[in-house]
Amino acid sequence: MSEIIKFPSRMEVEMRARSVSELRQTLSGFRDSLVGAQTAALEGATVKLVSPGDYPVERIAGVDDSVNWIKATTEDRLYGLLATRVISFEKGRHYRMENACERCPKKYMHDVDLRRVEDGGDIVVWEFEDDDHRDRFKKDIPFEGMLGDKLVKWRMAYGEDEQLIERVSDGNPNAKTDELSLRTRIVEVEGINSNDISKWLESLGDERLELQDMMSEATHGVDLVVDTKCVWCNSSQEATIPFDLEFWIPVVARERDRRRDRRDKALMRAAQRR
Ligand SMILES: [Zn+2]
Repeated sequence: MSEIIKFPSRMEVEMRARSVSELRQTLSGFRDSLVGAQTAALEGATVKLVSPGDYPVERIAGVDDSVNWIKATTEDRLYGLLATRVISFEKGRHYRMENACERCPKKYMHDVDLRRVEDGGDIVVWEFEDDDHRDRFKKDIPFEGMLGDKLVKWRMAYGEDEQLIERVSDGNPNAKTDELSLRTRIVEVEGINSNDISKWLESLGDERLELQDMMSEATHGVDLVVDTKCVWCNSSQEATIPFDLEFWIPVVARERDRRRDRRDKALMRAAQRR
């Protein structure tokens, strides 16, 4: 089964369903790299590039109508992962996620429909809001805006940036990945030497939020934050859809695994007794 998926960038890709064992194999091959696993999962689900949408075709088109996923925006990659789950499993659009309440603080379950809001789901997707942004993206011209008296230029985040950040922060619990991802996207700050941009970012204080708002307004994207309600204290809580193993392997398959594990252990114990 395959389906043509329309991405936040307006790119269209024919994607196919993948079996649980295929997905499991893909993901287990990349235990030390989440970005690698996600790229492989996207590649495995891709049948062909139908339309490049807002991308320059030379950036996104791979060999033989494939998609160069590492060059796709982070936003499109996330959307592709959601879409893969939806088309792969009969109940793939229903995702039951666990969230810890920030108020009580107990855990509760929340059901998400992983389809777009337009299709009756819970996922909000937005495209570039105007032709200027679209045009800049297409021609690889940075976006720009004023922060105080400084002109700041930035670009979107791509899979290869995620790869770089993962490599740099590997095994380093103190890595400031938020800061790194902001740094990789900033191309130029008026009056600041490019070697000093990290230092400048650290010095921003409240203006940093302003910068982040400015950057997130000029983008296409997918909202992974969903509104939930704590079943224990009834308070409204925001929760972010995760991309861990739990997300990929449906509960039924996990149950089957657990049963198999228990059986294997029982057999092993029986063998040891003999
Ligand atoms: Zn609560």
